[in-house]
Amino acid sequence: MNPISIIGAGIGGLTLGNILKQHHLDFTIYESAPEIKPVGAGIMMAVNAMQIFDKLGLKEKIESRGNKIHGIFITDDKLKIISTTNVLALEKKFNSCNVAIHRAELQNILAENLGFGNIKLNHSLQQIQKKENYILEFENDFTTESKIVFGADGIHSKIRNQVFGNGNIRNAGQKCWRGLTDFELPEKYNHHALEIWGKGKRFGFVKISDKKVYWYALVNENKFTENIDLIETFNDFDSLVLDILKATKPENIILNDIIDLAPIPKWYAENLCLIGDAAHATTPNMGQGACQSIEDAYVIGKLLEKNRDFNSVFEEFQNIRRKKVDEIVKNSWTIGKISQREKRNQIRNFLMRSIPKSINQKMVEKILKLEI
Ligand SMILES: Cc1cc2nc3c(=O)[nH]c(=O)nc-3n(C[C@H](O)[C@H](O)[C@H](O)COP(=O)(O)OP(=O)(O)OC[C@H]3O[C@@H](n4cnc5c(N)ncnc54)[C@H](O)[C@@H]3O)c2cc1C
Repeated sequence: MNPISIIGAGIGGLTLGNILKQHHLDFTIYESAPEIKPVGAGIMMAVNAMQIFDKLGLKEKIESRGNKIHGIFITDDKLKIISTTNVLALEKKFNSCNVAIHRAELQNILAENLGFGNIKLNHSLQQIQKKENYILEFENDFTTESKIVFGADGIHSKIRNQVFGNGNIRNAGQKCWRGLTDFELPEKYNHHALEIWGKGKRFGFVKISDKKVYWYALVNENKFTENIDLIETFNDFDSLVLDILKATKPENIILNDIIDLAPIPKWYAENLCLIGDAAHATTPNMGQGACQSIEDAYVIGKLLEKNRDFNSVFEEFQNIRRKKVDEIVKNSWTIGKISQREKRNQIRNFLMRSIPKSINQKMVEKILKLEI
């Protein structure tokens, strides 16, 4: 029998594994994929996540395999600034900085640190049943019993569906491409992330290592066709955008719908808890989905420091995390709608520019601050 099983070796499950290891707890992670090979894309680890990686002794490793980002800019299609975040002041305050990194690098660092021996690949959970303990049945015919179960199995979580019977996945009506390419950015963008807002479309890019640039592009669904040409779609954007697109091989581009999970009332049942996207998937507009799954793992770890009764830890965990996560899901959805507006964008940009910097700064600071 397993004392603790984690279903899913995504960023949430792997971070939780690292935290449980720090507590000398015996756990196994079950992952459906045959290898730790996330989608080929970059990801931004914000200061909240990096503070936690610092506590796990992983900050320097992640910084050295990624790229430190000191400024985040939203601009119009001609790269004229709409909004900036003064990250430097926050970096100082929290003694950590944002890092853009390849997803595979990040997940490998997390997996290496907790030990591949704790991860069972090719184990896709098929069914979970509650008897005295949980009975976990996998597609490869393996069955095990576990006292404690964590569902870190992402937005389409089987654990959530089978144990809680809920999960309304909402489609934001936007299509999102992500790409990776070898590209020499102008030096001034080496440590900055840019998101460019147009009419019903957006383009973002950031350098994730010496050579690689990660980019994403979004269009409203009504502008999408199967044969859409991205270079043509973004031809009214600055030429830098077109150069990045032209430099990207088609096989290095992936396409997704933008979705999230409508808030569910409860993240825990007896001896079982959901974390990360399984509990509270958000749209990516604030770059916080994975950071929030990392915060989930961290808060569970903090609570376990003083209490080994998992059921009361799970209840307190939800009480602590609920407000911040719900706000992020809601605000991220709204930002997605504002950024993809098709009309009166001059007014939108004007209004955005008139938001006092101090208000923006306070909002960002609230997200980056750990709750405990
Ligand atoms: C376009 C885009 C850009 C984003 N950018 C950012 C960003 O910059 N910063 C940020 O913080 N977040 C970002 N996110 C969000 C982030 O990707 C997710 O929030 C994060 O990956 C969630 O981690 P997770 O571990 O909870 O779930 P997942 O990453 O979904 O991991 C779940 C794991 O469980 C496994 N699994 C699923 N079902 C089973 C099963 N039945 N049995 C066994 N294993 C199973 C899966 O294979 C997977 O490995 C972005 C998302 C998108 C779509």
